[in-house]
Amino acid sequence: MPKQEETEVVVVGGGQAGVAMSEHLSARGMPHIVLERGRIAERWRTERWDSLVTNGPVWHDRFPGLEFADADPDDFVPKDRVARYFEDYAEKIHAPVRCGVEVTSVTKTEGEPGFLVEYTDGTTQGRIRARAVVAATGAFQQPSIPPIVSDEAGLTQLHSSQYRNPQQLPEGNVLVVGAGASGVQIADELQQSGRQVYLSVGPHDRPPRRYRDRDNVWWLGVLGLWGKATPPQGADHVTIVVSGAKGGHTVDFRDLAASGITLVGRTSAFDGTRMRFNEDLATNIAKGDANYLSVLDAADEYIERNGLDLPEEPEARVLGPLPACAVIPITELDLAAAGVTAIVWATGFRLDYSWLHVDAFDQQGQPVQQRGVSNEPGVYFLGLPWQSSRGSSFIWGVWHDAKYVADQIVIQHDYQQYESHRDRAAADTMPSSCADAHVEHLEKVSHS
Ligand SMILES: Cc1cc2nc3c(=O)[nH]c(=O)nc-3n(C[C@H](O)[C@H](O)[C@H](O)COP(=O)(O)OP(=O)(O)OC[C@H]3O[C@@H](n4cnc5c(N)ncnc54)[C@H](O)[C@@H]3O)c2cc1C
Repeated sequence: MPKQEETEVVVVGGGQAGVAMSEHLSARGMPHIVLERGRIAERWRTERWDSLVTNGPVWHDRFPGLEFADADPDDFVPKDRVARYFEDYAEKIHAPVRCGVEVTSVTKTEGEPGFLVEYTDGTTQGRIRARAVVAATGAFQQPSIPPIVSDEAGLTQLHSSQYRNPQQLPEGNVLVVGAGASGVQIADELQQSGRQVYLSVGPHDRPPRRYRDRDNVWWLGVLGLWGKATPPQGADHVTIVVSGAKGGHTVDFRDLAASGITLVGRTSAFDGTRMRFNEDLATNIAKGDANYLSVLDAADEYIERNGLDLPEEPEARVLGPLPACAVIPITELDLAAAGVTAIVWATGFRLDYSWLHVDAFDQQGQPVQQRGVSNEPGVYFLGLPWQSSRGSSFIWGVWHDAKYVADQIVIQHDYQQYESHRDRAAADTMPSSCADAHVEHLEKVSHS
């Protein structure tokens, strides 16, 4: 018989979302347990490439309650430092995190409030009955690779979450598909290591790293863009190309081309020999440029309206000519002839809630939720892209979303605690032994 415990809230996942959730639940006095299948911030440790640093400076990419004491506020710190930060944070707030515990199933307990959470620690299985469950397993769960190249194509294929460093790849040239923050950084690293790299570029936004002495994260903040509301359901996700690498710099595809990377448009098909690319490279770069210039415009306007004394930076508006590979686009590439032996798919992630057996998903398996509160009373999500705003899936934003979710959990808890006049009168008129039993029953229900 598996061990069974009871608590108010089970939080699944001990990444930044789970740690933030724990802080806010503790602040509200709400008993809870955080279950993490690996270690705290496991994805920062083992699911990212070796040289990754934060995409935002650490004065911003952190929780309010702790600074990165050993770093300059404008630094972009290595991924392992981020993992240590969340470990330290969990310790500081005494977060009740149990590591090495994988949640295998969450089901509604029929005929009584709450859920049954089943887990395994690898050797034993256990169960926890909880009034509420928070799915804090992140937005970046399963690699998403478009079905373009079969496994039998004789090429090494890996997702950006499996890429570690250039030495991991076989000798030869590399195609990197996807030019978001991950794709451009991986392509750059591979090119610097001496490989010929082809980088497939889709639609993107590319804000300036810094403009007029302020980082992009500051501009997003003062211009109200972090707080921008959730886009309509089904709206296209536009990749944001930013980089904290090399001390942080604006990503310009002209620079990548000048370093020797061959840019191509979106990857569309593979016939076993030739990879085909859409003829959209110049358009994608032009739209990225327009986005870049629009941020400069908005920043200039903000400075003007508020009379800020920030240095002018007219050179930021000077964009060079399009690289030759964008003017005369390559629309197909014989991979063997080009010496390409590996493909890195930097094509994003999909969600996986296969363990969560509740009525909180639409037909496509997407969570049905508003600001993390799902369709299934008692089930909450945290860390989803655009859960409440642009910031939701980032370090900075998830802390604020967790606060809201904790509030909602406490509000529901308080409703459950309500006793009517009739309930109280019934308790008062009971013989003392019955009254005790009644109180015991109410307590049991409220803690189950
Ligand atoms: C390459 C990359 C770089 C990024 N850089 C930045 C950055 O610089 N700044 C920033 O703000 N954001 C960044 N992000 C976005 C975001 O901050 C991170 O993805 C972050 O890891 C998300 O935290 P999370 O807690 O929501 O999810 P995760 O970190 O994914 O944590 C979820 C946890 O749940 C655990 N888990 C999953 N399933 C189960 C289960 N069934 N039972 C128990 N545990 C389970 C996992 O082991 C994991 O530890 C980056 C994302 C990527 C992909």
